[in-house]
Amino acid sequence: MQQDELENYLNQLLDISRFQDYCPNGLQVEGRNQIHTIVSGVTASMDFLQAAVVMHADAVLVHHGYFWRGEDRTLRSIRHRRIALLMKHEISLFAYHLPLDAHPELGNNAQLGQKLHFATVGHFGQQNIASYGQVMCNISLNELGEKISLALARKPLIIGEPTKQIRRIAWCTGAAQSYFEEAIQLDIDAFITGEISEQSVHTARESGVAFISAGHHATERFGVQALGEHIAQQFGIKHHFIDLDNPV
Ligand SMILES: [Zn+2]
Repeated sequence: MQQDELENYLNQLLDISRFQDYCPNGLQVEGRNQIHTIVSGVTASMDFLQAAVVMHADAVLVHHGYFWRGEDRTLRSIRHRRIALLMKHEISLFAYHLPLDAHPELGNNAQLGQKLHFATVGHFGQQNIASYGQVMCNISLNELGEKISLALARKPLIIGEPTKQIRRIAWCTGAAQSYFEEAIQLDIDAFITGEISEQSVHTARESGVAFISAGHHATERFGVQALGEHIAQQFGIKHHFIDLDNPV
């Protein structure tokens, strides 16, 4: 398929014009026009790009791309090396941040909810990207932790009473610890996100709502993967997902 055909399709599917984001969403670096193989991953790091080159990627698709607000705007050192590698191999870089968190089926939050068997009831947080709902059957906080460990292949950090029964839950992938207080207003038993701050611990203890830090990378692996698979099926192109471990 053609690069602009893929760009138009993804931009519409993810409804990018609806979001105010900290980075440009869509085609960030232009590569060759014909796309046969797409490689997806969470972050467009150097390791990821090198693996994509080995896999003969025509385009890469990531959740964390480049050109973040507040970042140095020069192409030097790390930024230069990454973009030079993409340009040398004529690989296009497609990046989708908040629109990929929020998509109702392929998004990070929808996918995480599915993996953990949560029923989504509604949305909250900045531009309504976070989700809340119910666990399918009542489980203890400890059991929920086990379930997350299995689903994400990573042990979460949990602040709360292990025997506490969990019924209502809110979640947002990535670094959404600042949504915790808003989540508490939804009368939930636990909140899951990727990262934790020092004050999250006190808020959890004083509100009685459990806080689960399940990993920024670990919680954001599913959206980009689902999106890559969707494109492969839709257009008959090849798709590979590369998961490079990140302990955060
Ligand atoms: Zn993220």
